[in-house]
Amino acid sequence: MTHADFLMPTALYFGEDCLEKGATLLGAAGTHALLVTGKSSARLSGALDDVTALLSRLNVKFTIFDGVTENPPLLTCHEAGKLAAEVGADFVIGIGGGSALDAAKAVAAFAANPTISPKEIYDAEKRKNSTLPIFAVPTTAGTGSEVNNYSVLTLEGGKQKKTFKAADSWPRAAFVNPRYTASMPHATAISTALDAFAHALESYLSPKSTVFSEHAALYAATLLYDVLSAAPAALDDSDREHLSLAATAAGMAISVTGTGFPHPMGYSLTLLDGLPHGRACALFAGDYIRYNERSAQGALRIKEFCQKIGTRPRVLAALLEGLADAEFSFTEAEIATRVELIAGAGNYQNSPYVLSKSEIYDIYRAHFLKK
Ligand code: NAP
Ligand code: ZN
Repeated sequence: MTHADFLMPTALYFGEDCLEKGATLLGAAGTHALLVTGKSSARLSGALDDVTALLSRLNVKFTIFDGVTENPPLLTCHEAGKLAAEVGADFVIGIGGGSALDAAKAVAAFAANPTISPKEIYDAEKRKNSTLPIFAVPTTAGTGSEVNNYSVLTLEGGKQKKTFKAADSWPRAAFVNPRYTASMPHATAISTALDAFAHALESYLSPKSTVFSEHAALYAATLLYDVLSAAPAALDDSDREHLSLAATAAGMAISVTGTGFPHPMGYSLTLLDGLPHGRACALFAGDYIRYNERSAQGALRIKEFCQKIGTRPRVLAALLEGLADAEFSFTEAEIATRVELIAGAGNYQNSPYVLSKSEIYDIYRAHFLKK
């Protein structure tokens, strides 16, 4: 089947009154919701209080599962899915950063198929029942998970990520209120903005981009570059609004194209070395720019992208690498462990320049090899 140039089955509500505007959709989804959150962000952001107040007004019962940890483990989602089935939840609301939202998508699939094993979520034949309706309330401005059907899960053992993506895993509605991002620590806000920038850049260069994804990517990148290049010590309301708009637009862009090689290359550093996802992607942004400049198409696209957002490739690479602010020192064996975990990802095909495995090693060595 040919992919649509743009598909957006999620009803998007933006701004202070986003929950009010989408209340009818929530009320129509059923009588019992499972709320999927991390330990504290849903509460700290004020989003959980707003959602539960609205559900109570709509006479919708709810059960809270607050056991989602960063880089959500597949096994946690399996556990929460069984809980959803046990309590008879009709729908799932993810409230939090990308970890809670991605988890909510997997939880909704397990809730509808409570007898499948964790790994069977990746097998469309085993997921006999379509997923429960999913709603998303982001408290970070980064992943864009609220407007796409990706659920990035950490496999058992904690060393590898694998994306679950099903045709019915799109949120039915996304409620984006920039206020919910105000409680993020500044470092998290910058890292999540770097993730959104990575989405915009990698989507723009993807051979799968369409005129619609390109415009979403450029809109996002322009807003993000404006905030990131000013390097504010603290964000104000206007910055937060711009970052939320940008993250959502970049999420739409990658819903068409997927992401490029900085994503898998960062996963090992996130899971094995604790580097937050956005900074891990930014660490490889300079490599992404320089390698893509080796192909005629890549060089052209990078030049266009930079001109349109008002920068130059070298300046952009230095800004992103600087904001990644990550230094590691690894032996050859430690590099091999990390590269072998991420070398099989499909993302390497998703840019004008396709990295070889030996180039992945070269990049890792150039950054990290112990002198
Ligand atoms: P996150 O892992 O959801 O959250 C990072 C940390 O920030 C957590 O400690 C979280 O607390 C805290 N936090 C979040 N919002 C907060 C707030 N408003 N106030 C205070 N603390 C807050 O971060 P993320 O960068 O948004 O998500 C990263 C995950 O998304 C990764 O697993 C990544 O692979 C995935 N991802 C998905 C997509 C996609 O398209 N679906 C795209 C890119 C990345 P709690 O633990 O209490 O929640
Ligand atoms: Zn990302």
